[in-house]
Amino acid sequence: MTLLAYSPRTANETLCLEYIMNQQNLSRADLATLTGLTKATVSGIIKKLIEDQLVIETGIGESSNVGGRKPINLQFNGQAGLSIAIDVGYNYVNGLLSYLDGEEIAIIQEKPIPLNEDTIQTYFQEIFNTFSKVAPETVYGVVGVVIAVHGPVFHGDILFTPHYNLDQIPFRQIAESLTDYPVYFENEANLSALGEYSFTSTSSSLICVNMHSGIGSGIVQNGHLQVGSHGVAGEIGHQIVVLDGTPCRCGNHGCLEMYAANKVCFEHFATIKAMEYVNAIILREYYRNQDADALAVVAENVRYLSIGINNLIAHYDPKVIVLNSSLYREIPEMIALLQDSLHSHFAKKVILRNSHLQEKATLLGGLVLNLQHFLAIEQVRFTETNS
Ligand SMILES: [Zn+2]
Repeated sequence: MTLLAYSPRTANETLCLEYIMNQQNLSRADLATLTGLTKATVSGIIKKLIEDQLVIETGIGESSNVGGRKPINLQFNGQAGLSIAIDVGYNYVNGLLSYLDGEEIAIIQEKPIPLNEDTIQTYFQEIFNTFSKVAPETVYGVVGVVIAVHGPVFHGDILFTPHYNLDQIPFRQIAESLTDYPVYFENEANLSALGEYSFTSTSSSLICVNMHSGIGSGIVQNGHLQVGSHGVAGEIGHQIVVLDGTPCRCGNHGCLEMYAANKVCFEHFATIKAMEYVNAIILREYYRNQDADALAVVAENVRYLSIGINNLIAHYDPKVIVLNSSLYREIPEMIALLQDSLHSHFAKKVILRNSHLQEKATLLGGLVLNLQHFLAIEQVRFTETNS
């Protein structure tokens, strides 16, 4: 249930909102200084944002040395509405219902599951039903549904999903038929990058490399996702690392993800050991015991991925590269091995680290995208921490 209807924001409103969201403890006077707007204009905007319940006053700010009236701080009302984000993997569906500040209300994780036109409808219906039962009353209700797709997406259209057939079914119509809320599609690695950028980093540029059955990356610069002219920027899994190598679903031969994806690494180890199934936890146990095959598989993964990361640095010169991979999380020593394999001078200043948000990175990125659409803002920052 919603109490207020959405109203479009003026440019000055979004400017003030961005500053309030991204910096703690701002007063009206601070805002006037930062935005260059007059104090009267800022006061008018804040009055409207408070009436719209998007901004709240948070008591008395720091007392000024010269005395006078103490300023009142302004804060984004993160509980003004709700967000739904759904991550559709090749054998899983995760859903997050949260407040606009990322506070979790409910999370659904279905895995492993078969995904096709029939089952996806069932899982989506289940997610919407469950969330509608537990959704608290807020001013704006659910502001949007963001669906993460494992494949390139351009202007909301799914271009290619090599790991399942979502590009072959009317996925948008299915999703929109199940909910009245606005539905947005985005690539999962792009959303992970947005999530890490907004929740774990203060860097102006960040690249998030997601490794599952394939390898993709999301590139964020100054709050903007860099998607390229056709939506395939950051598809680093499809850079060629082996001449005349293994055929890839994209049409090329020798793509990075055919050699360095988690799934490839697990399957390779399973074949060596004649095992049915291997995941990051199983491989980690062999690695901890100094199993020669595990050490070799890990070294090979690092060697191939280092080529990909080296190329990424040469192309984009990011400040931070975040890895989102169960393999690198379970065996964090692989980060140091990877760093040691980057011999270029270009790579020396780049911070390489594991994801802090882990499996929630994509879902929280979905929340950020919902916020960007709902408030018409670009920069969303919830953290003051470094790197
Ligand atoms: Zn490829």
